[in-house]
Amino acid sequence: MTQLGDDCFVNDGALMPLAEALRLIDERIVPVTTAETVPLAAALGRVLAATLRSDRDVPPHDNSAVDGYAVYFDDLVSDRPTTLPVVGRAAAGRPLAGVARRGAAVRVFTGAPIPRGDGDGGPDTVFMQEDCTRDGTRVTLPPGIARGANRRCAGEDVAAGSTLLRAGRRLRAEDLGLAASIGRTSLPVHAPLAVALFSTGDEVRDPGGPLPEGAIYDANRYMLSGLLSGLGCTVSDLGILRDDADDMKAALADAVAGHDLLMSSGGVSVGDEDHVKAAVTAQGGLTFWRVAIKPGRPLALGHVRSAGRQVPFIGLPGNPAAAAVTFMCIARPLVLRLAGAEARAPTLFSVRAGFSQRKKAGRREFLRCRLEDGGSLPVARKVGPQGAGILSAVAGADGFVELPEEMTYVAAGDTVPFLPFGEVR
Ligand code: AMP
Ligand code: MG
Repeated sequence: MTQLGDDCFVNDGALMPLAEALRLIDERIVPVTTAETVPLAAALGRVLAATLRSDRDVPPHDNSAVDGYAVYFDDLVSDRPTTLPVVGRAAAGRPLAGVARRGAAVRVFTGAPIPRGDGDGGPDTVFMQEDCTRDGTRVTLPPGIARGANRRCAGEDVAAGSTLLRAGRRLRAEDLGLAASIGRTSLPVHAPLAVALFSTGDEVRDPGGPLPEGAIYDANRYMLSGLLSGLGCTVSDLGILRDDADDMKAALADAVAGHDLLMSSGGVSVGDEDHVKAAVTAQGGLTFWRVAIKPGRPLALGHVRSAGRQVPFIGLPGNPAAAAVTFMCIARPLVLRLAGAEARAPTLFSVRAGFSQRKKAGRREFLRCRLEDGGSLPVARKVGPQGAGILSAVAGADGFVELPEEMTYVAAGDTVPFLPFGEVR
């Protein structure tokens, strides 16, 4: 198991553009999970641990793309219909017995291997049955077909020796189909990243229990647990920690064994940062990243050591919308990297702003927006109030309008970048 260096999160405390935070993660974080081999059917959502190359062609043989008649192109009259005797039949899984001779058509069905000829070549062109006139043992074929029409070539989907899936890929359903198409029954994958997750705050309570005056129910743990599970992590729910450095210290130390990452929300804002900070610093190290995003500051990163083992720690803000933004923008690439997955930069799409607003230069803002049909480009409308504590606006959004650092004003109708949530799941 790889261990991250003590200094992997170190920075000089300056306000950090998001791109710089992502660069540090990319440069300094290494995968920490081991590899295992799982049956194909169990590999959905897992991270491929070794690049998969094909040892065979798919399809393995030239075959017909349609139901119809396979012929030698050179037997066709170019400017008039051609009539040929029909000799033999080939269906999917039932190749022609013997060879196909010049001057005859073979009845074929979709997926049937294109018959072999008796010399070097063989039938090379297939007519769709809808275009042909069958009369007993003969078929009449129209002029004008291209050589090679309706023939699917061996290896046209996957060529032997080609790279099918790269290490680090989060396996999708199509990938499993692709692996099956070359005959694989299992794949090497990274073990899921084991994440210990907890909330912090004397006011935070589990839903289901009573809510004393001044208390709130824990929203973050459910949201973050779902986001982590969506990234393929195994999540241990460690509940809610009181705002007490000793309690936190004990809980963190206990969580080191059996986990690859510790994640918390709350307790890292200026008012009460000392609990998390003291607890993490006492048994490892902690640094605050002042990432230039809104919402989302501050963010605590570090590591916790216990019994000779060291695991990274990330402390997200307590405000739920800030926790969502920092998770999607910063924790997600960190998690994926630790899990051995490639963390491709999400694709932003152009939309039109359905609002106007001023903005401070020097930080990137994430507005919770819903998309509406807008003609040439969709129109993004803000979902309700945009405070860092407004979780309903995140829940109602399709994604974030990302206002770049240098921007100071958006006018309604301006083209702005939009990050759909589907890009950061
Ligand atoms: P903190 O970062 O601990 O200062 O919390 C900032 C705000 O987020 C406060 O209003 C907290 O009550 C709120 N908060 C903290 N943790 C949670 C949580 N798990 N669920 C919902 N709100 C939270
Ligand atoms: Mg708190």
